[in-house]
Amino acid sequence: MRPFAFEAATTADDAVRAATGLLANAPLQGEVQFLAGGTTLVDLMKLDVMRPERVVDINALAASEFGRIEMRPQGLRLGALVRMSDAADHVDIKHNYPAIAQSLKLAASQQIRNMASLGGNVLQRTRCPYFRDVSYEHCNKRNPGSGCAAMDGFNRSHAVLGVSDHCIASYPGDFAQALIAFGATVDVIGRRGARTIPFAGLHRMPGDAADIETTLQDGEIITSFFIPVAAWTRRSLFLKIRDRESYEFALASAVVALDLNEGKVRDARIALGGVATIPWRATAAESAVMGKAISDATKKAAADAAFAGARTHEYNAFKVELGKRTLMRALDQVAAMEI
Ligand code: FAD
Ligand code: SF4
Repeated sequence: MRPFAFEAATTADDAVRAATGLLANAPLQGEVQFLAGGTTLVDLMKLDVMRPERVVDINALAASEFGRIEMRPQGLRLGALVRMSDAADHVDIKHNYPAIAQSLKLAASQQIRNMASLGGNVLQRTRCPYFRDVSYEHCNKRNPGSGCAAMDGFNRSHAVLGVSDHCIASYPGDFAQALIAFGATVDVIGRRGARTIPFAGLHRMPGDAADIETTLQDGEIITSFFIPVAAWTRRSLFLKIRDRESYEFALASAVVALDLNEGKVRDARIALGGVATIPWRATAAESAVMGKAISDATKKAAADAAFAGARTHEYNAFKVELGKRTLMRALDQVAAMEI
């Protein structure tokens, strides 16, 4: 691991100042990272993939709104430093927003969930093996302009939606699929003050700049997530398909939330994981089920619509069929839920 400067912030303002060089003794040079649970950051620093010049520990902020879970009449507010396990096991979240609790419970291991924060979770980096191994030179995400080793390499785990000619890395997180399906917003604070952005606007598709993954500005910290309550939040589910049943990332996943009226879909929210470069809301699939009963024909129409724009590579073509079946099974299970 390379040497880096370390600062521990006790307030959000201090953290922003430390991250933007306003608090530090020396002028800021190079990359700055926040330390929450450290389960992504420290891992990638040890692999020499992330090389921050300064690390700002924000864990003390958990004593404030950053660490709170609040069930409000308008919706659920989750502080960015809430630990994954605390949200996954929260009785009201399990009851009122099951897809959120499930997306967290099925991620990583109990030990990691006890350490890892919600803010860090949505900002975790791809598991593309060529990104994580610095002996590979060609990785546009790690080394902009160098090419993409995965394009003609072993791309079994890679994305089929939202890909570009420069990067096909899949977004690895699970919780983000629930946030994007539920139309969540993100509160952030930075040197220009606080702002709220739609969760759907947080991540960037790789395009021709695979190294720029989010729309956060320099030094901005995620404070919290807000998930509005809606008719479909309780009838929701996260289904994750992976190579083994635990401690594994998704090959394909789906969040489905339905508002049913006399057996027909009045409103639907659908998101897909494991198959796309960013958290992926499948709006065409939502349109395909609107006003209809969940029948074999409706499920097939939704699945075909969801993957109409898929672009595959040598080893990941199976993800189209797997993704479709995952979505169809999730639709079935959600329609049958008793709430
Ligand atoms: P950190 O490592 O502390 O930070 C990660 C990044 O987020 C850093 O860049 C940091 O600067 C930034 N950051 C953190 N908090 C903030 C904030 N509030 N504002 C702005 N920036 C911030 N995840 C899944 O979803 N599903 C899985 O199946 C899964 N399996 C895993 C298996 C293993 C073996 C491991 C190691 C991880 C796995 N993960 C999985 C990923 C894990 O959930 C993430 O590593 C974790 O959630 C990151 O949270 P953290 O608090 O440790 O983040
Ligand atoms: Fe790098 Fe993206 Fe290519 Fe993986 S898919 S090698 S992360 S550019």
